[in-house]
Amino acid sequence: MQNHLIEPSEVDQIINQVTLKTEVIMVSLFDAVGNVLAEDIFADRDFPPFNRVAMDGIAINYSEIEKGTRQFKIEGVQAAGSPQMTLQQSQNCLEVMTGAMLPNNVDVVIPYEWTKKEGDTMIVEDFMGIKSFGNIHLQGSDEKEGNLILKSGTSITSAEIGLLATVGQHEVKVYSKPKVAIIATGDELVSIEETPAPQQIRMSNCHTIQSRLQEEGLYSKIFHLKDNYDELKQSIQSLFEEYDIFVFSGGVSKGKFDYLPQVFEELGVKKRFHGVKQRPGKPFWFGITANQQPIFALPGNPVSTYLCSNRYLIPWLYNQQCISSPLVKKYATLAENFTFKKPLTFFLQVNAYYDDEGQLWAKPITGGGSGDLTSLIKANAFLELSGERSDFSKNEKLPIWFYKK
Ligand code: AMP
Ligand code: MG
Repeated sequence: MQNHLIEPSEVDQIINQVTLKTEVIMVSLFDAVGNVLAEDIFADRDFPPFNRVAMDGIAINYSEIEKGTRQFKIEGVQAAGSPQMTLQQSQNCLEVMTGAMLPNNVDVVIPYEWTKKEGDTMIVEDFMGIKSFGNIHLQGSDEKEGNLILKSGTSITSAEIGLLATVGQHEVKVYSKPKVAIIATGDELVSIEETPAPQQIRMSNCHTIQSRLQEEGLYSKIFHLKDNYDELKQSIQSLFEEYDIFVFSGGVSKGKFDYLPQVFEELGVKKRFHGVKQRPGKPFWFGITANQQPIFALPGNPVSTYLCSNRYLIPWLYNQQCISSPLVKKYATLAENFTFKKPLTFFLQVNAYYDDEGQLWAKPITGGGSGDLTSLIKANAFLELSGERSDFSKNEKLPIWFYKK
């Protein structure tokens, strides 16, 4: 029976209908980066919490500048982390350090660079047009106590960690990361520790997918299943109990031993599509288990697997907020004319680079079919050429899917 092939854009629509079930877990701030925040975070105090001295120098009374006072006797030193001091005499000054509380009875900070010290007196040589409250970071000017500063659903990067640390969140609620099973199928495959017999090859796809996920901070477990119907069925059924996302490689094409679609059907998995109008990766199969777990069953050819992982799996994980990939879809400009045979959308391996003006170009790396891993090394992205036409011209802007930073 001929499968109904769908367009890559339809794949996006279908897979994005699946929503992962996640739990809320508590992690230490140390482990929070790369996760998605599962609680709103509020300012526990004003930001900054006091009128903060923003320059090393002297704090004085602005009215003295207006009166023409230029010499200020030093009353003392207000260091960062010391309790707030008070200026006793209006025509005097206090030395103040960046990060200190602004002392009482002063309202402007003159940086040391504009002053000269003579004995116990500071002479102000220049005011540079300073105004009252110059060089003072006013209490609450960034945020007021109680303000919402981070929304639940925010991806936690090092920038958010700084805020979380500021409000004392040594622990934080995040969404749990999904448990991903990567399953290689095929009797010809042996593990990388083994020496393959002439008819065997070492499995590479599962390692590619695993490390691609690892690059995005997601850990997964690898399994290898033989092309044996009963064994496949039994093993897959038990994996369903334990994992949230399944990525299969191999076993979904038209071969005599490509049992997966049939096994899935028997296990009650709802097929959503089998076959995409694309090259490489046409036999891509996708379905959802009775428990709403997604199954990405990718064709076994190494480039097909890699393309499907980067074009569909990674962006889907990004939409699910499981990863915060900066590599998800952008546009690049084709650097040379390119022609291919339609009607399947062609994912062209390209070397993408920025020119001196900041324009992103995509230069085709030709040669290398869906089995050629070495060509992947020369390229860094796939350019998506729609199967609606055959001829693409230099300077066209087209969707690009990076797999290398
Ligand atoms: P299949 O999709 O099972 O028909 O496999 C297509 C091709 O990909 C065959 O040449 C397989 O040997 C190869 N292949 C399948 N799985 C892997 C894997 N995990 N690593 C490397 N090659 C694979
Ligand atoms: Mg196979």
